[in-house]
Amino acid sequence: MKQTLLTLLMLCSAVGVSAQYRPRPDAFPPVEEDFSTKSVSMATTVEEMADWDRYPTYETYLAMMSRWAETYPTLCHVDTIGTSVQDRLILSMYIEVQTDDDLYRPEFFYSSTIHGDEVTGYVMMLRLIDTLLSSYGSSPELTALVNSTRISINPLANPDGTYYRGNNTVQRARRANANGVDLNRNYPNPFAPAKAALAQENRAMMDYFESHNFRLSANLHGGAEVMNFPWDSYTSAQNPHPEATWWREVGRRFVDTVQSYAPTHFTDVQEADNGVVAGGDWYVITGGRQDYVNATYNCLEMTMEISVDKTLSSNRLPEYWHFLAPSFINYIKEIHNLPASVGIDPTQAPGYAAAGTLHIYPNPATDRVVVDGLVPGERLWMYDMQGRLTGCYPSGAESTEIDIKKCPQGVYLLRTEGRQVKLVVER
Ligand SMILES: [Zn+2]
Repeated sequence: MKQTLLTLLMLCSAVGVSAQYRPRPDAFPPVEEDFSTKSVSMATTVEEMADWDRYPTYETYLAMMSRWAETYPTLCHVDTIGTSVQDRLILSMYIEVQTDDDLYRPEFFYSSTIHGDEVTGYVMMLRLIDTLLSSYGSSPELTALVNSTRISINPLANPDGTYYRGNNTVQRARRANANGVDLNRNYPNPFAPAKAALAQENRAMMDYFESHNFRLSANLHGGAEVMNFPWDSYTSAQNPHPEATWWREVGRRFVDTVQSYAPTHFTDVQEADNGVVAGGDWYVITGGRQDYVNATYNCLEMTMEISVDKTLSSNRLPEYWHFLAPSFINYIKEIHNLPASVGIDPTQAPGYAAAGTLHIYPNPATDRVVVDGLVPGERLWMYDMQGRLTGCYPSGAESTEIDIKKCPQGVYLLRTEGRQVKLVVER
């Protein structure tokens, strides 16, 4: 209500906080958005989404996902992550090029609108799906990205919240699911014994993570504009994330690119360093998805707050896409430069305890190298010292031989899911 907003603004000015800073998105009492100043147009057909300046009705959303799967059958398929309390579908578009080679492609995951009223990311992710699929084969940049990465995009994680007023509008959507559960406070706290019963939508999402091998992901929100990296459960003084430096760099690249198009965006969170903040330094929460995913799945996930308005006027969606899209695409690319210490936890890998150390000989080598001590069936990847993948070798036995005649002189890393060893190639 306006009165609430006014009270908050007065409080802010009373303590000398600059008026450009806004209350946190889950402020209580909630700061309701003023819909009298908004225009929220809905698309009731796929064709009406052509200019990306509307929100889709629920049926239009389903039709868009089906249309892409039919149009690009060799590039994508639709995964059903699960269903909501009211039996709406939680879907993800899985983009994966079908090829004969055995190249290792890391898995990336975007997910939006776990808070049903934070709908800007919903349309951004739909448009990202469309862009990746329709640019394949014509844009060298995006073709290379799809060729090297498996990309899953879940545009709508909380459909009951978004379509709270029915399938034909996203106006006055709500944050929680149909049972009133805030899904981003309902994940198990990885730092404490389990307490709350899991929401159906979150159980499905956890199963989806468990059945994949995501290495990098993001959870999109609205109500602020800030790159929020783990942990949410602690301030960075209490318990910094082991890759906090990397997170700050990734966040910096995202925001700098946004601000090269739109300089005033990502400036509204006071606690942030120009749009980048460790979650708990903004405000501590528990039960968020980010901490659970980081601690449980060996996957780096951050929370992207991408629009100050939770429900953006639909005619502004193209403007947001213009300044966010390059950063969304660059963030996917970050999966190819993950910090060395993350992505693989040797002690957690299947077969690790039984397998012991990898042996290679000769080392240094020139023509070929023998790798011993493999678990039959485990894969072996080879990287150069810039972290670029140079080969992938399935192993049918405990020992395999690799031809390295084409490898330039240098140091390489031979890596399985759990172990690694350095190889020197001499010329
Ligand atoms: Zn949110």
